[in-house]
Amino acid sequence: MSKKLLLKDAHIEGIRYFETYRKQGGYTAAEKALKMTPEEILEEVKVSGLRGRGGAGFPTGMKWSFLAKPEGVPRHLVVNADESEPGTFKDRYLMEFLPHLLIEGMLISSYTLGSNVSYIYIRGEYSWIPDILEEAIEEAKAAGFLGKNILGTGFDCEIYVQRGGGAYICGEETALLESLEGKRGNPRLKPPFPAVKGLWERPTVVNNVESIAAIVPIIDITGAEYAKIGVGRSTGTKLISACGNINKPGVYEIDMTITVEEFIYSDEYCGGIPNGKKLKACIPGGSSVPIVPANLLLRTVNGEPRYMNYESLADGGFATGTMMGSGGFIVLDEDQCVVEHTMTLARFYNHESCGQCTPCREGTGWMYKILKKIEKGEGKMEDIDLLWDIQRKIEGNTICPLGDAAAWPVAAAIRHFRDEFEWHIKNPELSQTQNYGLAHY
Ligand code: SF4
Repeated sequence: MSKKLLLKDAHIEGIRYFETYRKQGGYTAAEKALKMTPEEILEEVKVSGLRGRGGAGFPTGMKWSFLAKPEGVPRHLVVNADESEPGTFKDRYLMEFLPHLLIEGMLISSYTLGSNVSYIYIRGEYSWIPDILEEAIEEAKAAGFLGKNILGTGFDCEIYVQRGGGAYICGEETALLESLEGKRGNPRLKPPFPAVKGLWERPTVVNNVESIAAIVPIIDITGAEYAKIGVGRSTGTKLISACGNINKPGVYEIDMTITVEEFIYSDEYCGGIPNGKKLKACIPGGSSVPIVPANLLLRTVNGEPRYMNYESLADGGFATGTMMGSGGFIVLDEDQCVVEHTMTLARFYNHESCGQCTPCREGTGWMYKILKKIEKGEGKMEDIDLLWDIQRKIEGNTICPLGDAAAWPVAAAIRHFRDEFEWHIKNPELSQTQNYGLAHY
């Protein structure tokens, strides 16, 4: 059974309120941290090996150490709660059921970074959660854990919740900062990076909800103990939101030592695939990472079991780096059609492109049109090569990673499931009435 650090109290009735959270030991990590120096806390975070839980997996301690500290210029912590990646809903769970864990993590992080005014930028569609967060902020303030001179330390900290307008691109950190400043959420060219010029051109750290929540157990048990959980550079625990063709969709906390097979089939996690169907493929880290066929998902190319961690999910000739991504684990059974699935994603990315870069703005539209044509049985064989060519021209040629995120699923689908594309083209009549999966099994 995986060790629980973040969700250990999630089942307790009323844990979302200060009184219950405090009774369970809440805010003791903050009390401990405020007696430490910011440098000591930073060292604990570095030693913990915590990697950003939003998708990139960049070491959090290193990110914090890049924060510029010019004399007299305010600094900010911004929590990225714009969780819009298809298949990813773990941050929603944390904010909805454990808002004080996030607030406590923000207090410790703000103190470490020297941020007297910190923000939570939350996805517009999570319309009911800002009220939960604002209530928790008021409770923390009333108890002396936010506001002026917190616990008599002389440190002041206010937290504000900002609702997003519902654009996926605002999850990209510079687009988020533009939006937070009241502008259209267009990504900025980097450099300068937010650590030097972020919110209102001030040094800013942007971190994911889960990353900031993880600061609480790190201070609680120490960075060294946190680093002992997990394996290699995949330290601590990780939240995974599992969905698709599984018996038990939901949010699970894993310690990154379990195999992918165990995660899918064990009753402790996904509980297997309904109706005894076979596993066809999976997107292990949210829609922006490539689809992986079952044979490569469960075993590496060397035949070793594949594990649910950053390193194991990066090995095996995948098109990109780690596939842990945002922890959105989407399972497809044998009845699913990869072409239809890829088309749905292409439509999403085309809709969400901000339009600044030509390869992304035009390329995502063309990929969607061609995929739609193939899926309807109106495609030609040369369309597959055209699709391949378009995705290659998008990857690496855009301002922000949305372009890559749109290209990779198409590349992986063609690489691993070319036969499905060809079936749609060769069987136009069948293609219009049923999908590839149902037609084959
Ligand atoms: Fe906008 Fe797409 Fe360019 Fe990102 S890659 S800046 S979403 S056009």
